[in-house]
Amino acid sequence: MAKYTGPACRQCRREGVKLFLKGDRCFSDKCAISRRSTVPGQHGTGRKTVKEYGLQLREKQKAKRYYGILEKQFRNYYEKASRQEGMAGENLLTLIEKRLDNVVYRLGFAESRREARQFVLHGHFTLNGRKVTIPSLIVKPGDVISIKDTSRSKPRIKEILEGIESTNAPKWIELDKTNFVAKIAQNPQRDDVDFPFEEHLIVELYSK
Ligand code: SF4
Repeated sequence: MAKYTGPACRQCRREGVKLFLKGDRCFSDKCAISRRSTVPGQHGTGRKTVKEYGLQLREKQKAKRYYGILEKQFRNYYEKASRQEGMAGENLLTLIEKRLDNVVYRLGFAESRREARQFVLHGHFTLNGRKVTIPSLIVKPGDVISIKDTSRSKPRIKEILEGIESTNAPKWIELDKTNFVAKIAQNPQRDDVDFPFEEHLIVELYSK
């Protein structure tokens, strides 16, 4: 399975915005965007003018990086979203919100989407009572997600679960913080996406 393996902070610096890819570090003064917000690379400080295509491209790259998705899969999500009723851009974002790795992250079961993806790949979660190892799986209303009993004693997971009380689960997911079980109550809406994407730019890019 292809994935980006380079430095996470470099991606934020390239987009010029915090993408929150590294958990707690993103909220500390160690954040690379706070310390050095220039675009990485030799010509980083020289790039100034961004034209229409550049804006569209950057918005698409931002969304891909925020969710940790590579181009081919992101394009597939767009194709699927554009075939659904309603606005393609909104459909795209709400579709990606339903990825299992994103759900695990939004529930506070992982510190970042990267970590969530790793936890799912390592089989620490169940979906409707069965072990699941596919981070890109799209959840649907009624699905029940839980951490496997045998995984709860693992040091990293135990540490995360000890802090679960402070989690604010999105309103489209019901989280039982005592038993570490979550149920998808409804499909997410556009305002459930917690990043100010300008998704119309992504649609314009892909519609060319
Ligand atoms: Fe981005 Fe987080 Fe790195 Fe800051 S610490 S640059 S928000 S990944």
